[in-house]
Amino acid sequence: MAWQNSTRRARLPRNWPLLRRRVLHRDGYVCQARFSEGQLCGAPATDVDHIEAGDNHSMANLRALCAWCHKQKSSSEGGTAAALTRVRTERPKPTHPALED
Ligand SMILES: [Zn+2]
Repeated sequence: MAWQNSTRRARLPRNWPLLRRRVLHRDGYVCQARFSEGQLCGAPATDVDHIEAGDNHSMANLRALCAWCHKQKSSSEGGTAAALTRVRTERPKPTHPALED
């Protein structure tokens, strides 16, 4: 398969498309990120996140996220395999699209 030559996807397992669908289905296509107050994001999830960055592709280490939360987490990791285990929101994010009326 062509994508096996891609460095961008080198860390993803061959069955990633299946795993990804399975995680989204398990989580009800709802973003599983929690804000600092413990409130579930709840926005429609389109992305699957590794809770602990790395090569652990088990279902327990995967969760559905919305694009917004995934972007927050990715930017906070700064491209390194930092030991961040969850989305860190230092303060409430009133601008989150799911929270707007
Ligand atoms: Zn979210």
